[in-house]
Amino acid sequence: MLNIIIFGAPGCGKGTQSELLIEAFNLRHISAGQLLREEIAANTEVGREAEKYVSKGHLVPDNMINGIIENIVCGWKNGFSGIIFDGYPRTLGQAEELEKIMDKLNKSTSLLIDLRVPEEELIKRLLSRAKTSGRSDDNIDIIRNRFKIYESETRPVMDFYKSLGKYHAVEGLSSVEGVFANIKEKIESLKR
Ligand code: AMP
Repeated sequence: MLNIIIFGAPGCGKGTQSELLIEAFNLRHISAGQLLREEIAANTEVGREAEKYVSKGHLVPDNMINGIIENIVCGWKNGFSGIIFDGYPRTLGQAEELEKIMDKLNKSTSLLIDLRVPEEELIKRLLSRAKTSGRSDDNIDIIRNRFKIYESETRPVMDFYKSLGKYHAVEGLSSVEGVFANIKEKIESLKR
């Protein structure tokens, strides 16, 4: 099984690269942000609670997102070669929980891919995405908040996977195809 965490600051291209990875390696995709937006759109109890955080660019509490992820992953049985975790884990607590969930399922995370893009470029991308995304959190004040939280809460996840020997950084500034080629090469090297 190839269980990949696609990691990086908001706007680094996690969603785009996830789509290519799913196709290339027959993976199931789990996007934490997308799941939360679906809950919000459906106006569920979880969605109403999540909105208080998402609309400010804050992270939802670990137990809320951990529960959603665990339910989904435990429901998947056959017909896929691995999972791509997009936007999860985003805190050390989530990373530890993910490892426990995978243990329970007799699976393990294979690799964390860190897409590195300079902040000025990320801001440009997010503001451009805002024109079509309809996302209330793609505005400059909330974007800055999301970066701050990324630095303080999410970066420790990187160190956690470094300590497990599963961390791999990829330069994320070049073309979509160029970035994907680098990711693919790394994944193929794991299989050799
Ligand atoms: P994203 O689509 O990945 O940019 O996520 C959008 C928003 O959803 C984030 O700014 C957070 O408010 C929330 N969110 C997404 N993933 C997580 C997570 N793993 N933990 C907590 N909150 C999350």
